[in-house]
Amino acid sequence: MKKEQKVLGIDIGGTNIVFGFVNKSGKISNKTSLITADYDAFEPLAKDIFTLVNQQLLKNSSTGIISIGVGAPNGNFYSGNIEFAPNLPWGDKVPVREILNNLFQIPVLITNDANAAAYGEKVFGAAKHMKDFGLITLGTGLGSGIFTNGNLLHGHNGFGGEFGHIIVVENGRFCGCGKHGCLETYVSATGIKITALELLATSHEKSTLSEVKNLTGKVIEQHAVKGDALANKAFDITSQYLGKALANYVTIFDPEAIFLFGGLSLAGDLIFEPTKKYMEGNLMTIFKNKVKLLPSALEQNNAAIVGAAALAWDLL
Ligand SMILES: [Zn+2]
Repeated sequence: MKKEQKVLGIDIGGTNIVFGFVNKSGKISNKTSLITADYDAFEPLAKDIFTLVNQQLLKNSSTGIISIGVGAPNGNFYSGNIEFAPNLPWGDKVPVREILNNLFQIPVLITNDANAAAYGEKVFGAAKHMKDFGLITLGTGLGSGIFTNGNLLHGHNGFGGEFGHIIVVENGRFCGCGKHGCLETYVSATGIKITALELLATSHEKSTLSEVKNLTGKVIEQHAVKGDALANKAFDITSQYLGKALANYVTIFDPEAIFLFGGLSLAGDLIFEPTKKYMEGNLMTIFKNKVKLLPSALEQNNAAIVGAAALAWDLL
């Protein structure tokens, strides 16, 4: 019997490592997850992945894996390393590609998590027929993947498209990257929370948010939907930063579309409408009403694995 060829997609995150087999249509199977904090080095983790994958392959004799795609914070496509990832405990340079390649003896491709999601959108999602688009991931931080002329922008050092760290406020909020005023300190789950707290501290208006103990992006969204003015203002401020930044993005890359993925993007009209308004308001006439602002078509829970696998499928 001929085996169905699949790619092993691995999503490395600060909390969990999730992996699974992904077929050529983007369908995922045998999804498994491990806890990042259980491993103080990458080698034992890779060995556990290797063991678990082989157990599943033995059970599932109709499947064969032909390559591995990895999405990880600060994953470098060129070097194959994870480099200086703040939320991972395995050192400054982790040779992920080399370690996995030695174990599995098949090709391994790695990129950062937002680039992986952009690959997923390109290969399996709503950007299948697009050559120029951007995907912005709105989670704890802000990640981005940029496709230009049909190719993912890796840049000279492998770190192209770090849109979350463009500076939008002079001497602004401190960012995990060591700078001040980066976009992601304003436009992310963390960013909108700080914005809401600042509004609560300075505004005399009453807000239902003042009674909330654990403020999150989701909670702010719920209060905004119920009509709380301060929560709505927090969304408006966030969208203003994002919309203006996207107008700058459009000026450089002239994309067909920009996709918003994850976290805050799930707030729908609350984020899309004002972001579109502020983007259009800051665009040159030649770009006005030409760029689509769209929700990602990827399934939120599986996007990282499927995206990492898409990278491998696309480049095989
Ligand atoms: Zn930064």
